[in-house]
Amino acid sequence: MKKLKIAIQKSGRLNEKSVELLKNCGLGFENYKSSLITSAANFPLEILFLRDDDIPEYVQDGIADLGIVGENVIMETNADVTYLQRLGFGKCSLKIAIPNNSPITTLEDLNGKAIATSYPVILQKFLDEQQISADIRTISGSVEISPGLGLSDAIFDIVSTGGTLKSNGLKPFTDVISSEAILIGMNGIAKEPVVAELLQRIQSVLRAKETKYVVLNAEKKNLETILSLLPGVKSPTVVPLAEEEWVAVHTVITEQDFWGKINQLKAAGSQGIVVMPIEKIIL
Ligand code: ATP
Ligand code: ZN
Repeated sequence: MKKLKIAIQKSGRLNEKSVELLKNCGLGFENYKSSLITSAANFPLEILFLRDDDIPEYVQDGIADLGIVGENVIMETNADVTYLQRLGFGKCSLKIAIPNNSPITTLEDLNGKAIATSYPVILQKFLDEQQISADIRTISGSVEISPGLGLSDAIFDIVSTGGTLKSNGLKPFTDVISSEAILIGMNGIAKEPVVAELLQRIQSVLRAKETKYVVLNAEKKNLETILSLLPGVKSPTVVPLAEEEWVAVHTVITEQDFWGKINQLKAAGSQGIVVMPIEKIIL
């Protein structure tokens, strides 16, 4: 198989989860912080460690074949790349925020106002869609201090818990986009067998994350009710126990479904319920 390169963040919020995902896919490599590139020992892939801002363009230009990066960065760089898989980590949202005592109450009030941001492209697109004409002030960091310094009337930035906003006397005003980490590829790369193989492994890891392996004991007379409660399962395994009237039910269920059913399962006579993590689910 042809050897490909995947770019991931060198350090920062996406680094650890990106490394963990690749390792869970069975790739063996050293995560040397000092080196820019490392090779997987048992898979035809090299891993490039980069600043997240550079990843979309590197993938667009084919310097890396694949990349893991926040959707916010892909949108901001306007890179022409293929989305291969949403990865479910690095979740955040980008919002417009205003000072607590701001006179701004409607979107139209943003007309003629100054908005500080590190994401001018995404903000401009949003303002154009809303037919608002505001003065975008692009700054590279500490956006949240700019209203306090009199540099802007509002900000547009990543907000997760809102703690940073609060400590700067700001409050969320409008949600613009939500973002998560995405596996992207150079256009056309999806047809490479290495990519198909990696994608299959990633999807099996993601599926496993959402699901649990559940084992429970039940009296045979309750079995029908219990099986009817287990959603989305074609055919759970039912194993006899040493005690004749009892069986063990083994099944795979999403964690969300499980918590929704736990009380009913107990009421229907399930006992000794054991929930275990699953490493991979290969369909
Ligand atoms: P780099 O040094 O690689 O340029 P950075 O400082 O630009 O790193 P990080 O703060 O590490 O970036 O964030 C990387 C990505 O993590 C963001 O682009 C975003 O997609 C995601 N993210 C998730 N939650 C948050 C959050 N609370 N604050 C900032 N980014 C977040
Ligand atoms: Zn960055």
